[in-house]
Amino acid sequence: MTTSHYIAGRWVEGQGSDCISVNDPALGQPFAELMAASAAQVDQAVAAARGALPAWKATSASERAGYLRGFAEQLGQRREALISVQMRNNGKPRHEAEIDLDDAIATFNYYAELAAQLPSKNREVPLAAPGFTARTRLEPVGVVGLIVPWNFPLVTSAWKLAPALAAGCTVVLKPSEVTPLVEQAYGQIADALGLPAGVLNIVNGKAETGAALSNHTGLDKLSFTGSNSVGSQVMRSASAQCRPVTLELGGKSAIVVFDDCDVDQAVAWIVAGITWNAGQMCSATSRLLVQDGIADTLLPRLQAALENLRVGNPLTEEVDMGPLTSQAQWLKVASYFATAREEGLQCLAGGRALDRDGWFVSPTLYADVPKDSRLWTEEIFGPVLCARRFATEEQAIAEANDSRFGLVATVCSTDLARAERVADALEVGHVWINSVQAVFVETSWGGTKGSGIGRELGPWGLSAYQSVKHVTRCLG
Ligand code: NAD
Repeated sequence: MTTSHYIAGRWVEGQGSDCISVNDPALGQPFAELMAASAAQVDQAVAAARGALPAWKATSASERAGYLRGFAEQLGQRREALISVQMRNNGKPRHEAEIDLDDAIATFNYYAELAAQLPSKNREVPLAAPGFTARTRLEPVGVVGLIVPWNFPLVTSAWKLAPALAAGCTVVLKPSEVTPLVEQAYGQIADALGLPAGVLNIVNGKAETGAALSNHTGLDKLSFTGSNSVGSQVMRSASAQCRPVTLELGGKSAIVVFDDCDVDQAVAWIVAGITWNAGQMCSATSRLLVQDGIADTLLPRLQAALENLRVGNPLTEEVDMGPLTSQAQWLKVASYFATAREEGLQCLAGGRALDRDGWFVSPTLYADVPKDSRLWTEEIFGPVLCARRFATEEQAIAEANDSRFGLVATVCSTDLARAERVADALEVGHVWINSVQAVFVETSWGGTKGSGIGRELGPWGLSAYQSVKHVTRCLG
C-alpha cells in the first residue's frame, strides 16, 4: 500500500522510517506493507484538524448527524470487504467479524441520534437567585488525538470517532500498526461523503508515531485505548501539558459462578468470556471463581468444552477460535505457559502453542491457581482461564475485587436477588448477570482502578468530547 495516510482530505505516502508489515496470523506471513507516517506528517494532520475545527464546530448538529448516518450506511455498503480484512488480519472467525461491523454501524447511528438531540441540551438553567439568567452550551473539546489498539480495530475507532465528530471535534486517528488496514475505510468513507477536509485525519505507524501524536502540543485532548504501560506514557504526556485524557486500559476480570447455576449454561458463558477473539479482549473474564458445591461438576465439563473447540484458520476452516493476532502476542501467551509450568500449576486443558504454521494456541484452563500466581494477577490477553474455588458470597466478592484492574465482571446465578447484590458490590465499570460480553451502545464502557479513566459509549461517550460552558446574564 503506498498511500495509506489520510491527511487534510488527501491520501498520502508515509514518509517515516518504519516499514509496517501487515500479517495474516493464521499463516504467520505478511500480505501487505506500508510506510509509517513521519513526525512531520503527524504535525500536518494536527494542523489540518486545527484548521478544520472552526467550520466543523459551526456546523449544525443535524448536519453532523447526517454525516454520521452516512458513515453507518457506508460501512454497511463495504460489509464483505470489512469482514474479510478483519478475518485475514485479525484472525477473527466470520461471525465475530460480523458482530464487530454491526457494532461499528450501531455506534455511528446511535451518535447520529445524540447529535440530532444536541440543540435541546443547550438550555436555560433555572437559578434560585433573582436578577440573572444562565444558559448551558455544550461545546466541542476541540482537536482530539485518538490512539487505538488492534483487537477490535473497527469498533474501538468507531467508539471514539462517532462521538467526537458528533460533538463537533476534529480528529487525528492513529490505528494500531498490527491492524492498519480496516480503519482505512473511515478515510474512504470521509471521501465518499464529502466530509470537509481535515475533520478526520488518519496517520499510521508504530510507537514513534503514537508518541508524536500523544506529545503533540496542538491537541486539546487525547483518547487512548491500549495497554497500561503505554497508557501511563500517554498520561505523562497529557500531564506535562495539563491536558485531558481518556484512558481505556487492560483488565483481569472475574466470572463468578454460584452453585445454583445450570452447569451447561455456565460452561457456555465461561467459554465465550475467554475464547471470543482468542481471549484478546480487555474484558475477557479470565479469572473464574466457582462455588465449592458445583466446582467438581463444572471443571471437567469446562475442560471438555475447551478441548472440543475448533481452532483454525477462519478463512479456510469452520472454526470457533482463530489464531492470536500477532507473533508478539503469541510469544507473550507462550511465556505465560512457561511460567505456569515453572509455578507447577494444574493444567486441565491446553497450556501449549499448536504445532502448525501461524500463531495458534490451545484454549487453556488452570485449576486452583494460587492468588499470588502471575497468571491470576496479570493480564495475559489470550485464551487462558485461571480458576479458583470459593465458599461464600462474601469470599467471592472479596476475591473478585482483589485486583489492580476493574474493567468488567460476570455473575452467574439463578438467585437474581443475590446476583444483583453481588453486581452492586463489584468494583468494576460493567457487570453482566447471566450473560457474557453483551455490549450495548446505550450503556457505558470503561473501568475503575487500573482499567482506566473516563467512559466511552452512551451519553458519557459524547460528554468525553464536550466542554460545558455557561453564559450568565445580569438582568438589571
Ligand atoms: P498498546 O498499548 O501496545 O498499543 C495501543 C496503541 O498505542 C497502538 O496504536 C500503538 O501503536 C500505540 N503506541 C505504542 N507505544 C506508544 C507510545 N509510546 N505513545 C503513544 N502511542 C503508542 O496496546 P495493544 O497491544 O495494541 O492492545 C492491547 C491492550 O489494549 C490490552 O492491554 C487491552 O486490555 C487494551 N484494550 C483495552 C480496551 C478497553 O476498552 N479498556 C479495549 C481494547 C484493548
